[in-house]
Amino acid sequence: MAHNWGTSSRASRLPGNWKTIRARVIARDPLCQICRVRPSVIADHIEAMTDDHRLEALQGVCEPCHRLKTSAEANAARAANPSPGRRRPPETHPGLR
Ligand SMILES: [Zn+2]
Repeated sequence: MAHNWGTSSRASRLPGNWKTIRARVIARDPLCQICRVRPSVIADHIEAMTDDHRLEALQGVCEPCHRLKTSAEANAARAANPSPGRRRPPETHPGLR
C-alpha cells in the first residue's frame, strides 16, 4: 500500500509522544474548551500555528469546534502573513526561571 503522507505537513511536526500528550490534555479537559457542550476529542494548540506542545499550551476541544478554529486560523494567517513557514522564536516567560 502506498503511504500518502504528503498532504499534511502538520502531522510530521508533532512530537513522538503526541499520543500521550493528547490523552493527557483530553483527560484534563474532558469538555470542549470552546463550546463547553461536547466532549473533547482533540488536543488543540491554543495559540495558532505553534510547535509548543506543553500541556498548558494545549486545550481539549471537540471536532466541530476544532474544524472551525483551524479554518479561521488558516484564513487569518494567510491574510496577516502571505509568506508561509515563518516562525517566531519561542518567548521565555519572565516569571519562569
Ligand atoms: Zn466544541
